[in-house]
Amino acid sequence: MAAHTRAAILAWVDAHQAAVVGLAQALVRIPSENKPPHGSEKACQMFVADYLRDLGCQVDVFNPLEIEGLTEHPAYWPGHDYTDRPNVVGVLTPQPGGAVGGPPGLASGRRSLLFTGHVDVVPTVGEGRYGWWDGTVVDGALYGRGANDMKGGIAAYLMAARCIRELDLALTGDLILETVVDEEFGGAHGTLACRLRGYNADLAILPEPNNMLISTAHRGGQQFRLFTSSEGVGMGFGETVLRDPVTALGHLLAALDRYNAERQGRPKPKGFENDVFPLMPFVLRAGELLPWGTGEAIPETAWVEFWIEIPPGVTEDELQSELRAVVARATETTPTLQRVTTRWEERTRFLAGSSMAEDHPAVGTLAANLSSVTGQPPAFGPAPFACDGFMFNLHSPTPVVILGPRGANAHAPDEWVSVEDLVALTKTYALTIADWLT
Ligand SMILES: [Zn+2]
Repeated sequence: MAAHTRAAILAWVDAHQAAVVGLAQALVRIPSENKPPHGSEKACQMFVADYLRDLGCQVDVFNPLEIEGLTEHPAYWPGHDYTDRPNVVGVLTPQPGGAVGGPPGLASGRRSLLFTGHVDVVPTVGEGRYGWWDGTVVDGALYGRGANDMKGGIAAYLMAARCIRELDLALTGDLILETVVDEEFGGAHGTLACRLRGYNADLAILPEPNNMLISTAHRGGQQFRLFTSSEGVGMGFGETVLRDPVTALGHLLAALDRYNAERQGRPKPKGFENDVFPLMPFVLRAGELLPWGTGEAIPETAWVEFWIEIPPGVTEDELQSELRAVVARATETTPTLQRVTTRWEERTRFLAGSSMAEDHPAVGTLAANLSSVTGQPPAFGPAPFACDGFMFNLHSPTPVVILGPRGANAHAPDEWVSVEDLVALTKTYALTIADWLT
């Protein structure tokens, strides 16, 4: 890219810092909670669609379930309702004399770049210092549900595209800008539907909030509920050996804890060598007390709900058969467990970890631009969370790199994102679009 183009991009973003923040605030101020099986992303998606039309994009608004092959896809997980939950994709193609026809992206034979993000946010629970939907900015931090995960990052790429348009930089390749529904709680069908619709590119950039890392890999995970049951125990009068789902579940928790410690010692994929993959119990339930505060019966069922994280390469079969083996081994040696039955329930889809080639030339371009914008060497490392990235790396021809802002409290009150990072990312993305597509 010519030095004057580079300088023009940096100057444009500097002059539009308030607009970067304003766009992120506007997105935060449109609630778009995901409450499985439903979600209320529509208003936010219509806002994005209008924004993309205003940029001159060809805009495609479609419901994920309209896409042929989605429900038959091996990565489809049933049970989500997609009423009023549209995906939005905007495409900019080279346009001497108007838009170029034919499919955009990889299928066009031109160079291509794709930005992707989810507009759904987890529901508000609890109370913080700042309003959930206010978009308050204090000391360089923008607060609000979704500010960090991940409307801030979406604002950055939408503004980067606006920079390219307003500077009238002629594209020689295709720029695809998408926002998807239903990513939280392991949805990921919005992302899959875009791939099946044919939106694929040389590289996808996903600004999930990974603290300004260049992540060519990310973790996976799954949430389970594990039950122990025994019908009709009551007070157990007359039983010589009690059937007791509560104590049985305690044995299983101890077994899961040993399993989790053991698996940390296994060889880990490149980049993940120092990572710990937690098994996090969220909820433990069994029995109830009578109104006057005393128990009357041994509960028939006890359960624990937990989330377990995995590195790329671990398959759904491997994870689930290991967990079943943990229960089977514990049962062999524990009479308390032999007197109850155990049962599993999958509470989210299996979210695979995944990775792409580290030496992809567009990732090199992105890293060089990040470094030139921040004045720091680029930091590489895997994203420490599960996300929809696997729908790109494992189920499409498009590799995905994650680069998003710093911040904190994702999924909690007072979620915030660094305004400085949103500006730096807008510059980085715009430079990368110019390098790769002009
Ligand atoms: Zn996210």
